[in-house]
Amino acid sequence: MRYDIVIIGGAIVGSSIAYYLREEGFSGSIALIERDPQFAHAATTLSCASIRQQFSIPENIRLSQFTLKLFRRLKEEFGADADIGFREGGYLILAGENGLPILKANHEAQMAEGADIVLEDAEALVRRFAWLSAEGITAGAYGRTGEGWFDAHAMLMLFRKALRGKKIDFITADVTGIERQGDRVTGVSLDNGETLQAGTVINAAGPNAGNVAGMAGLALPVEPRKRNVFVFEAREKYADMPLLVDPSGIYVRPEGSVYITGGAEPEEGDGPADPQDFEPDWPLFEEVIWPVLATRIPAFEAIKPTRAWAGHYDYNTLDQNAVIGPHPRVTNFLFANGFSGHGLQQAPAVGKALAELIVHGGYRTLDCSAFGYSRVAEGRAFRELNVI
Ligand SMILES: Cc1cc2nc3c(=O)[nH]c(=O)nc-3n(C[C@H](O)[C@H](O)[C@H](O)COP(=O)(O)OP(=O)(O)OC[C@H]3O[C@@H](n4cnc5c(N)ncnc54)[C@H](O)[C@@H]3O)c2cc1C
Repeated sequence: MRYDIVIIGGAIVGSSIAYYLREEGFSGSIALIERDPQFAHAATTLSCASIRQQFSIPENIRLSQFTLKLFRRLKEEFGADADIGFREGGYLILAGENGLPILKANHEAQMAEGADIVLEDAEALVRRFAWLSAEGITAGAYGRTGEGWFDAHAMLMLFRKALRGKKIDFITADVTGIERQGDRVTGVSLDNGETLQAGTVINAAGPNAGNVAGMAGLALPVEPRKRNVFVFEAREKYADMPLLVDPSGIYVRPEGSVYITGGAEPEEGDGPADPQDFEPDWPLFEEVIWPVLATRIPAFEAIKPTRAWAGHYDYNTLDQNAVIGPHPRVTNFLFANGFSGHGLQQAPAVGKALAELIVHGGYRTLDCSAFGYSRVAEGRAFRELNVI
């Protein structure tokens, strides 16, 4: 079997790339290979499914804005019954005295990109959100529009469904090897013993992307990092509550009639996760998260944790930012990796950008060259400061 393009990983990034390749008029053959067709362990389905404008660098803001525009015209793009339950509830990122200069600098970058974010002092925030305690808070940045949350599974299914009838071969298999001759990758081998010849190979393997790059003899500083999400019930329902990020890094947001929270993984000891480990770390909730929630939102003193899950970030250890585009030497191997906790909202944009690169020979809508692999080769960080 020979394919013009083989995409490794069929979750949101792989599916989006396949979708936009066809949208851009790519008529060659495409194989989308996925080893976990229920997506039980994909970052996509285990994520918090939120989208924001509050990044520190313009390039990330632009990627999210592309997706935001797509969300706002979802039915036009995918049909009248397309619905991902997008709720434009906003983000509220809080800072104490120490964090204020960074919050201000980020806010300036966001305003320059046309984002609808207000920077308010503690007093104004408490007036806006009566449930909030401003203890230790100097200011906060609140997204009045353009930020919120949605159903990740519904978004993935929308893309997967849209691929039907577009002559894409969905292959259920584990890619176990990549063949390479000199500076060209030539094919992939599968756990069922088959080999597929490939004109181009695209790495969309999420947290496993470092391993997949390694199969082609290429170094990619992306590893799985375990992240826990806890669900709790509270008597009070705050309909106006945005996704709140405390200066400690702990976040909380409404999810229907309950709340979800997380973000307390200690930096010290945060390393590559066991790829099989999806067991939530409950002590994090009890010992670290709950006390912070009860301080920030006093009504959350009395809450009832109900369940939890853990997923793996596709963590770029160099700079917590995506690596997008071809390897500079092995040019028919392309990366779409390392999103470090913001890949779901960037996936449509990245799909569009890579499709343009492949079909038209260059980026048109979104210039992703700053995310290129050369910085990895040079060890030059292109850092995103707002990693939640
Ligand atoms: C707890 C948590 C919360 C998050 N919250 C958000 C958020 O609020 N907003 C946001 O934008 N992002 C968030 N993210 C990040 C986001 O989920 C990821 O960046 C994004 O889903 C990456 O998509 P992907 O398709 O590259 O990876 P994945 O969804 O992990 O998909 C990769 C796929 O590749 C397959 N695969 C891997 N290796 C092979 C192989 N060798 N052969 C065949 N198939 C293979 C896997 O089975 C998998 O299905 C969160 C992540 C986690 C874990």
